[in-house]
Amino acid sequence: MNDTLGHAMGDLLLKEVVGRLTHAVRPEDLVARFGGDEFAILLAEVADPTTAGTLAARLGKALAVPFSIKGHKVRITSSIGIALYSPDVAGPEAMMMQADLALYGAKDEGRNCYRFHSQDLDLQVHERVRVADELRVAIEQGELELYYQPQVELSTGRIVGLEALVRWNHKTRGLLTPGYFIPIAERTGVVLPLGHWVLEDACRQLKLWHAEGIAPQTLSVNVSGVQFKGASELEREVEASLTRWGIDPSNLELELTESVLMEATQRHSNTLQNLRQLGTRIAIDDFGTGYSSLKYLTTYPVNRLKLAQEFVYRVTVDYRNAAVVRAAIRLAHELGLDVIAEGVETEAQVRFLMAAGCEQAQGYYFSRPVTALKASELLRVGRVEPATGPLRRLASSAA
Ligand code: C2E
Ligand code: MG
Ligand code: MG
Repeated sequence: MNDTLGHAMGDLLLKEVVGRLTHAVRPEDLVARFGGDEFAILLAEVADPTTAGTLAARLGKALAVPFSIKGHKVRITSSIGIALYSPDVAGPEAMMMQADLALYGAKDEGRNCYRFHSQDLDLQVHERVRVADELRVAIEQGELELYYQPQVELSTGRIVGLEALVRWNHKTRGLLTPGYFIPIAERTGVVLPLGHWVLEDACRQLKLWHAEGIAPQTLSVNVSGVQFKGASELEREVEASLTRWGIDPSNLELELTESVLMEATQRHSNTLQNLRQLGTRIAIDDFGTGYSSLKYLTTYPVNRLKLAQEFVYRVTVDYRNAAVVRAAIRLAHELGLDVIAEGVETEAQVRFLMAAGCEQAQGYYFSRPVTALKASELLRVGRVEPATGPLRRLASSAA
């Protein structure tokens, strides 16, 4: 650029580049020019390498758009090297050296790309960023689908609620479960548009069920910690979806995990209170797997506990585990919370839960998560009979 159009034009280009870089990074990041055409960006708070990879991909794209400098169209390529801090890195110089090596790796690769200093990391992150890009397109093209799993009242077999669980109908790989793509979506931020889609589609479906007169009392939607951190945006989205589809807020339940709640406590966030003020219900998902703390049970306005599958799984084989589950059910009741057991697979587990006073359950014993069409059939019947014997018999024997 300096050679062909002169230094003044080169300076203008540098300014434009800086503008695009600062625009693409997050407010807490630092952009510095190191000299010549070299820049360094210091990313604060990178919990996961994928965050750095996602940002690098975004920077690359931002710089690939042609510049227009005094009427000249200018194209540039960029190469990005990434080093991550870890306690065993000797210091800033060592990190810069790693970043430099990674940068040369990127240049060798043919430019216009990013490389990590470690090859394993590099492969991992590139794969995740690729899946995230694919997922972003999939959301727009309608490849996501919500499945629904019934939540059953143990004493009657009545369906009292449904949990919406997202699936990805992948063009070539078939039906993908969230265990594969949600962690990637969370690390790359794609979980935000995904969560928005889930909320909208769940409300749309609930509206249809209401119109048909078969709607369950509550529809539960899983909310990721990343969504929860973007507090006001989440509150707005929930409110907007409820209004758009004319859903009574008390029919919607948001499921949050313990770790998300813990983090919120530490940040003194009001999000939970605000969501409750909208009138939606809040459930603690996978209760018993995280940093179970009695504190948030007493300080936070949650409506129900979902006993984690890992817990429920062992109630009939491990008496200590059984004691903890019994105690958790009693504690919840004394605090005025509902309890639902997740991952219930056997009649023995149902017997145990009923004897322990647990009023609701969800699991393969009753039904796997099913398509909206199948869920409609279940709702029309209004109750589920497990394959291995009528619930009513259990109910009367427990009484
Ligand atoms: P979760 O919210 O705890 O959902 C329960 C998971 O347990 C579901 O897996 C369900 O299919 C499975 N399950 C239910 N009953 C049984 C059973 O009896 N036995 C066994 N072995 N498993 C059972 P799924 O659908 O694969 O979802 C996994 C996780 O992905 C969910 O755990 C949830 O954390 C997350 N997830 C699902 N949908 C969404 C979503 O729309 N948004 C977000 N952010 N996360 C979601
Ligand atoms: Mg859940
Ligand atoms: Mg769960």
